[in-house]
Amino acid sequence: MTAWFRTLSVLNIEPLVDKVARNKLHNSGQSLSDYNCIICSRKVRKGNKLMVHCVNGSPYEIVKVNEPAENIHEAGDMGWWDIGPDCAKKLPEGYVGQGQEILN
Ligand SMILES: [Zn+2]
Repeated sequence: MTAWFRTLSVLNIEPLVDKVARNKLHNSGQSLSDYNCIICSRKVRKGNKLMVHCVNGSPYEIVKVNEPAENIHEAGDMGWWDIGPDCAKKLPEGYVGQGQEILN
């Protein structure tokens, strides 16, 4: 990782991510953005609105919900990704935000 940019609250969730499940998902032609949990790759339930904010161009680096926008490098802002309620409990406080309720 380069040091030219630093967001204070960055947390690397890679050790928590189920890589086998994620590869399986990608090999089946689906993607995380199809309402799959960023940690375990399982579909999140209808009604779920828990999300994490990925940065630094990485699907593994997240920032706290209240990280000021000016601290986030725009080019590397990956936006918000779904996370299931069980996996959300594995993260420290402050990293899981409320997104839009999933309707389908
Ligand atoms: Zn999960």
